[in-house]
Amino acid sequence: MQLQVLLVAGTHGNEINGIFLFDQWEKSPLLINTHGIKTCKVIGNPEAQKAGKRYIHQDLNRSFREESILSINSSNFERSRANELVNLYGEEGENPCQIALDFHTTTASMGSCLVVYGRRDADLALASLIQNKLGLPIYLHESDQKQTGFLVESWPCGLVIEIGPIGQGLLNSRIISQTKLILETLMEQIQQVQNLTFYTPEKLIIHRHIKSIDFPRDEQGKIDGYVHFLRQSKDWQKLKKNDELFFKLNGEIIRFEEEESYVPVFINEAAYVEKDIAMSFTKKELWDFKKEWKQSLIDLVHQK
Ligand SMILES: [Zn+2]
Repeated sequence: MQLQVLLVAGTHGNEINGIFLFDQWEKSPLLINTHGIKTCKVIGNPEAQKAGKRYIHQDLNRSFREESILSINSSNFERSRANELVNLYGEEGENPCQIALDFHTTTASMGSCLVVYGRRDADLALASLIQNKLGLPIYLHESDQKQTGFLVESWPCGLVIEIGPIGQGLLNSRIISQTKLILETLMEQIQQVQNLTFYTPEKLIIHRHIKSIDFPRDEQGKIDGYVHFLRQSKDWQKLKKNDELFFKLNGEIIRFEEEESYVPVFINEAAYVEKDIAMSFTKKELWDFKKEWKQSLIDLVHQK
């Protein structure tokens, strides 16, 4: 079977830079260099895109749970859409893809990063190749029972690409060109895996998810404090004990009280307010690149 890569933009309907790039690409097929790799590109949530919203009924990127995918006749748009995407492009689907790349944007000042879910060998290998080429941080999302059902987990290998900062529903030249650059670098690296000419780094830098924290709230549960100005836009910058996190208008400052020096990400991300997430804490770690990761990615790309 020939390798095919699923490219998804607009899994969240109001993250429009990837959608715009895909639309332009449709009109001008030479716009993006896929290095000869066969791709299927798809708008993840077209209904939400039309509505100019993140989603219609529920977050599509939390809808790829087994029970959601099995409920075919759901009146919930995102559940049906998750089911449809897996039927169309899943490993066993009509038009099977082995790798899924899901392009997102963030309102947080994180620049560009890759997100991997859990510790699958092929994901870690592909993320390492991109970190080695472009220097992007890798956010390892794991051990979070409240946030599950991510799209890429339904494919044997998959990465989320987060690019920011950009407001929802806005086009921005830097975001579009970074999306294009990362997409082309991914295609280049996958081609090199196909040709066995790729270079694997010895180490990779991982920001491992520890936990997410909520905004301060009053007795009624309403938010009564905001991200402290010293923390706003300071994603990826290590926290130390007593650093300022939130500010309340009564003058109270809520501080970081952990002994560990965590690194905050997704600080004040607009889409996460509804999830009661003001920011997430990660731990920065240096990992050895493992031979098994490389083999897993080679096997996936070369499977017959
Ligand atoms: Zn998104």
